[in-house]
Amino acid sequence: MYFGTMIIDGKSISKKIMDEIKERMKGNTHVKIAAIISRGDQESSVYFNSIRRNAEKVGINFDIIESDGNNFLDKIDELNENDDVTGIIVGRPFPVGITDEIVGLQLNPEKDIDCVTPHNLGLLNYKISSISPATPKAAIDILELNGIPLKGKNVLIINRSITVGRPLANLLLNRDATVTVAHSKTSNIKELIDQNDIIVLGVGKPSFLKSSEINGKKVIVDIGINVVDNKVVGDFLNDGGNDEIDYTPVPGGVGTVTSTEILKNAIDIIDFNKVY
Ligand code: NAP
Repeated sequence: MYFGTMIIDGKSISKKIMDEIKERMKGNTHVKIAAIISRGDQESSVYFNSIRRNAEKVGINFDIIESDGNNFLDKIDELNENDDVTGIIVGRPFPVGITDEIVGLQLNPEKDIDCVTPHNLGLLNYKISSISPATPKAAIDILELNGIPLKGKNVLIINRSITVGRPLANLLLNRDATVTVAHSKTSNIKELIDQNDIIVLGVGKPSFLKSSEINGKKVIVDIGINVVDNKVVGDFLNDGGNDEIDYTPVPGGVGTVTSTEILKNAIDIIDFNKVY
């Protein structure tokens, strides 16, 4: 029997992942994450400080390193060479002139705990990596660990970025979902929404999709983060127009899980490097 709209919780999943990390850290593994941000990048600073608070709870060292913009790539090189550092993450937006490709090629894949290097993204395509990009993996875990199966499901991803949509499509294919990827030039999004069971939104536009615009039973995974009137909201708005929708909230959904995925990756990559 169906009981109406359900909010798919991220906090309990994040706690579950934290408990697993705590257990694994009992082996006294040395894990040290270095996060590089550009000076003045408030958004990454808030994000990395929240990861640092979680890291400290489980005994993972976490340093935030500021770049003045000109030395961004030198900072990556220094951390690549520093044996004490086991994982590196970089804040977006990058300084002017620095792109995802440049960062991906500069970073040592053995320390790439957000899976941004071509090497690790390639391994993901081959289905042999234990590391997945944190945000797409959070979208997967929030569904699977809440008991929402992916095998045989039709999933529409509205995002084709290298950090969200593309790796998420691979993670879903690896779980036997049938995947459609849409973007700003897609001409039939409404039709595609009707045809799919699960809709993943990573557009970055508040109220991009409202429940009243959706027909029938759907699961919405909202990755979008937007600030409206000093409040954080996603891309989905539940306006009460369809009570057959289950959705991840913003805040308290995918973003909450993402920061714990980074910590889990920081341990997984150490084990992975021992094998490969
Ligand atoms: P992005 O590179 O700007 O990607 C946005 C995507 O949305 C692009 O593929 C774009 O299409 C598509 N799009 C834009 N307008 C559209 C429209 N009218 N119809 C259909 N598609 C449209 O951003 P991103 O870095 O992937 O991040 C996406 C969102 O996720 C942002 O809100 C960001 O803050 C959030 N985010 C959340 C987390 C988390 O942990 N929850 C982590 C990272 C990012 P084109 O490719 O054609 O431009």
